[in-house]
Amino acid sequence: MSKLALHGGQPLRKKLFPAHKTIGIAEQTAVQAVLEKGTLSRFLGADHADFYGGDQVQSLEQRWSTKFGSQHAISVNSNTSGLYCAMGAIGIQPGDEVIVCAYSMSISATAPLLYGGIPVFVDLEPDYLCLDPAAIEQAITERTRAILVVDLFGQPYEAQAINALADKHGLYVVEDCAQAPGATYNGHYAGALGHIGVFSLNYHKHIHCGEGGVVVTDDDELAERVQLIRNHAEAVVASKGQSASPNMLGFNFRMSEIDAAIATQQLLKLDTLLDTRIANIRYLESQLDFIPGMTFVPPRPLATHAYYQHAIVWDEEQTGLARNDFVFALKAELPAFELRESEGVKIGCGYVKPLYQLPIFTDLAGPSNFTQSLPDYSKVCCPVVEQLHNSTLIHHEFMVPSMTKGDLNDVIEAFAKVWSRRDELRTT
Ligand SMILES: *Cc1c(COP(=O)(O)O)cnc(C)c1O
Repeated sequence: MSKLALHGGQPLRKKLFPAHKTIGIAEQTAVQAVLEKGTLSRFLGADHADFYGGDQVQSLEQRWSTKFGSQHAISVNSNTSGLYCAMGAIGIQPGDEVIVCAYSMSISATAPLLYGGIPVFVDLEPDYLCLDPAAIEQAITERTRAILVVDLFGQPYEAQAINALADKHGLYVVEDCAQAPGATYNGHYAGALGHIGVFSLNYHKHIHCGEGGVVVTDDDELAERVQLIRNHAEAVVASKGQSASPNMLGFNFRMSEIDAAIATQQLLKLDTLLDTRIANIRYLESQLDFIPGMTFVPPRPLATHAYYQHAIVWDEEQTGLARNDFVFALKAELPAFELRESEGVKIGCGYVKPLYQLPIFTDLAGPSNFTQSLPDYSKVCCPVVEQLHNSTLIHHEFMVPSMTKGDLNDVIEAFAKVWSRRDELRTT
């Protein structure tokens, strides 16, 4: 085999991987119909039938609640706004503590701040990489009001243990299921495992409409408050008999009819897209078994995984090689995806910086009403997160549904090439 690309050899593959594009004729036709009708949104911020939006929005919500088995589905314009709605709806007040995940997209930890809530960072389970129930239990205080769980990389959170803790202490469980649409735990869909679940329909997710989100819940009261916060609560609460509820300052977090029409078509494709992703993971895992010390994070017992990212754990001692050296060499052998060249080769070392290291926490660098009552985060340390980030976690997206067997074989060959020439990489 030729020299490593990192050291000037030929890369194993130069031709870009096929675009991960889920938008097609069905979405074009649905959008065309909305454009012909001309009603691009029918929301009204008043106590009126149109408070709930137009036909496309309501039809999406109907299908979403049927699919995921929840009483209510409420569309919003992002998962971010959905998490804000959820924090408001459960009644977070200044000084309330919300247990959050230290390793996720930033909003998974910052959502409580909008209502003066205090994020309390908790570490991950070393084996399945979601919030660790034992660490949650230690972090619960008199002031804890909720646990904001994340189905990280597509893995459902440990619902049995965490829901039991929430019951015992009278806490809400808010589930950020942005990365896990279609994943299941004990026969229930991710999103429907806690009191409120929040999906994302942004461009990077399994299915998308550009920007969007959906909030699901079985609780009628929570559903109404989410609808109010989505759509100018302050103008509507009096006639809806909700004027005594906290946090009834509204926003415009409404989804347009065009986005809802696209999201509906995308929802119809979810199962097929997910099956292909899972088949690709099975193939990759079966072929990438030649590196002792490189292991794959499995779905937890009772769960199916949605593989937003494929999480791999690299043992530097057993492999005799630093994770970063291996991944940098691998990156040099492989191409980016068509239409997403700017994102580079879709494999990385670690995920995001531990969230307690963000400036909003280290420097309290937010608006003073967000940060004035926050504790000193400089001493927070989640050892599992730091180890994953600094030396053991590799994540990649080579399992996206556009990848053919031939494309996957190139990925496998690149791993094999770098592994077979690993002596050229040893830095110690
Ligand atoms: C993508 C993502 C979000 C944010 O979703 P938006 O729809 O872009 O607001 C939140 N949490 C997690 C875990 C995500 O992956």
